[in-house]
Amino acid sequence: MHEQTLAIHAGYDKDAMGTMAVPIYQTTAYEFRDTEHAANLFALKELGNIYTRLMNPTTDVFEKRFAALEGGAAAIGTASGMAAIFYAIANVAEAGDNIIVAKQVYGGTTTLTGHTIKRFGIETRYFDVTDPSQIEGLVDEKTKLIIFESITNPSIDVADIDAIVAIADKHSILTCVDNTVATPIICKPLAHGVDLSVHSTSKYTTGQGLALGGIIVERENLVEKIKGNDRYYHFNEPDASYHGLVYSDLHLPLFTLRVRLALLRDLGGAPSPFNSWLHIQGLEHLPLRMKQHSASALAIAEFLEAHPKVKKVNYPGLKSSPQHYLIEKYFKDGMASGLLSFEVESREMAQKIADSTEIFAVVVNIGDSKSIITHPASTTHQQLSAQELISAGVPGGLIRLSVGLEDTQDLIDDLENALA
Ligand SMILES: *Cc1c(COP(=O)(O)O)cnc(C)c1O
Repeated sequence: MHEQTLAIHAGYDKDAMGTMAVPIYQTTAYEFRDTEHAANLFALKELGNIYTRLMNPTTDVFEKRFAALEGGAAAIGTASGMAAIFYAIANVAEAGDNIIVAKQVYGGTTTLTGHTIKRFGIETRYFDVTDPSQIEGLVDEKTKLIIFESITNPSIDVADIDAIVAIADKHSILTCVDNTVATPIICKPLAHGVDLSVHSTSKYTTGQGLALGGIIVERENLVEKIKGNDRYYHFNEPDASYHGLVYSDLHLPLFTLRVRLALLRDLGGAPSPFNSWLHIQGLEHLPLRMKQHSASALAIAEFLEAHPKVKKVNYPGLKSSPQHYLIEKYFKDGMASGLLSFEVESREMAQKIADSTEIFAVVVNIGDSKSIITHPASTTHQQLSAQELISAGVPGGLIRLSVGLEDTQDLIDDLENALA
């Protein structure tokens, strides 16, 4: 089936009530047929609903639909994108281990990897996403995961996915891409051999800034890379917290299953059924919206590129972009999503421009139907030191735009007035 059909139907069997719209199963728990049924569910002899911290029928439709769009074997929803990223790390790394992360990542991912997980004894080693060969020198036997973004937020770099995967596969290390900005519509990293993708579904998935959410998707046959691989002994040895279950012996997508059975069970960052329902509504028109976001962002990037006050425009959809060849290789139909950034002379000028727009709202979000202007150095990246700002590619004069779905000419006029 084609993408637009999957976006509307995948993962949903109209239930006994025949409802066209996916119902919101707003419940905490589920009745078992009897105690034996309950015991079978807990022992994974049968699969079924136990408690909404572990699974929920509305969330299940969302997970299946998202996995279908991303081209993965299975997915697991979380309460936010940050929860998804943390669980992807915590599912493989523990004290004494290290992970390798692109320098150009979302601010929350930078603080998570640079500070918070350090307190759990997990070390992060950074590489420049524009030079994947740096990964080679960072790998050792304790390396558990390589994390990067397919399009970076906010420096707007495009990853050379094949180059990263080649090094990771050579060392049998799992790769995880944050595909939030590209969305499954524009980029399908799992088809390029990436093992896991994570998304903040708070962004383009709802598409209207309606609900927080995150998701982890795992590729088909991931067990082949994990079974017998000493790096991932947790999956190959009996899990004492789950009466000796060996994940790599199961004929089920094992990475997301372990997030569910161990991490959601113990850490509890589960999505609310209502938020999953909002995400399902968003997916229905995600393919249509991404076309419009991309077309409008390209027109705005071309306008900014020609403007005398603009020093530099970062948008890989531009023919002049040094990364244009990467979107031709990895992205669909030349689309490059709705996120772009541009640089003006100074921090003061950037703040003045952000304060002067009328349609573009000063907000720290992306992927909304409503256009957004952000000054990263004073907001999303404020907690980063001057050194971290430079290495994350966020100079003081940088402005980020999330181009929404308003009329393109109105958005250009708004920027023209603010730049005057
Ligand atoms: C927003 C965002 C996140 C964090 O997601 P939340 O849902 O806000 O927790 C992670 N990665 C990227 C690329 C994002 O844009």
